[in-house]
Amino acid sequence: MILHVDMDAFYASVEERERPELVGRPLVVGGSPTGRGVVSAANYEARKFGVHSAMPVARALRQCPELTIVRPRMELYVDISKQIRAIFYQFTPDVEPLSLDEAFLDVTGCESLFGSAESIGRRIKQQIRSQLHLVASVGVAPNKFLAKLASDLEKPDGFTVISPDTLHATLDPLSVSRMWGVGRVTQRKLERLGISTFGDLRRLSSAQARQLFGPTGEHFWNLSHGRDDRRVVAERRAKSISHETTFAQDIQDLEILLAWVLELTEQVAGRLRSRQLMGKTVNLKVRYSDFHTITRSSSLDHASQSTDEIWQVASKLLRTSLPERPLDIRLLGVGVSNIQRHRPRQLQLFDEAGQPIRPALDKATDEVRKQFGRHALRRGSTLRHTRSRPRPELEE
Ligand SMILES: [Mg+2]
Repeated sequence: MILHVDMDAFYASVEERERPELVGRPLVVGGSPTGRGVVSAANYEARKFGVHSAMPVARALRQCPELTIVRPRMELYVDISKQIRAIFYQFTPDVEPLSLDEAFLDVTGCESLFGSAESIGRRIKQQIRSQLHLVASVGVAPNKFLAKLASDLEKPDGFTVISPDTLHATLDPLSVSRMWGVGRVTQRKLERLGISTFGDLRRLSSAQARQLFGPTGEHFWNLSHGRDDRRVVAERRAKSISHETTFAQDIQDLEILLAWVLELTEQVAGRLRSRQLMGKTVNLKVRYSDFHTITRSSSLDHASQSTDEIWQVASKLLRTSLPERPLDIRLLGVGVSNIQRHRPRQLQLFDEAGQPIRPALDKATDEVRKQFGRHALRRGSTLRHTRSRPRPELEE
């Protein structure tokens, strides 16, 4: 069985935890309202005013004048993400993070030690609450697609189990828009054919589905039956580390896309550092509104775990390597491959002549501070990204 654990309004909830006086008030984590700042995350109070991620902060303020705006503190979120992951690892080594606040866990075979998948899910949710004072929504299901769907069904503070017995009863009434890979265009196309729910699609034969939609028809048809055979890929076995996000609205603005590349890079680099890894090849993935998807890669001259170095390459790929066509982007991803263990040169305590050199730890700490300081500055600029609520997405 697979668990999908997804933190509720993660950045905003962390800020509420750090500043209890903000609890119960509408709050967003985002950029400057006077510049082009946009909302990274909105708490549920703010959402009542129609404020959502990906919205310009200036507009959010018009809709909700008493809104509190907090600047993102990415290093804090990375740190808490590590603590959440440490809870996961108490139960299973098979953890596949999707982003700082979301992961798949394969708990198959852990039942004899820790009880059923459902009780493991409940314990994880409980531990996140009691130890970290944060709330996660959890989905428990036989595969990744269903687990991710499940964690979203009763969000926030959700806990949903989809078992083979309840599968069709749960899935059939759901809108096809919840399927990975069904965007607005496909949804409209399906609806024109009278298919608006999983159940409508499931009742076709696979041949009909193929006939109507080609090879992707069969993929959607399998999803309507709740079938998905992708495995959970544990991070320590991963050959690459990446983060991607699908925007609620397609983005045309290069500046906003660049700010997104920075956020995705920070997540990737944070994971590299927390796992003592470095990557040499930087990958950028772009999916256009028509689902045309391209990836571009470029290698650094040395393996790195630095946000800045990876960002230089990733942002250059975005600026210079895309085809000549209008920007109209639905999904953006940043990753690194060519992964290797981090072996800091600073660990050397004496130089060639046997003279003590600056203690390794100090230097490493300084470097981290320097790095975070730089990014804090960058984050304080008016350039902000949109943080949209990720749509379920077809994975390659
Ligand atoms: Mg989340």
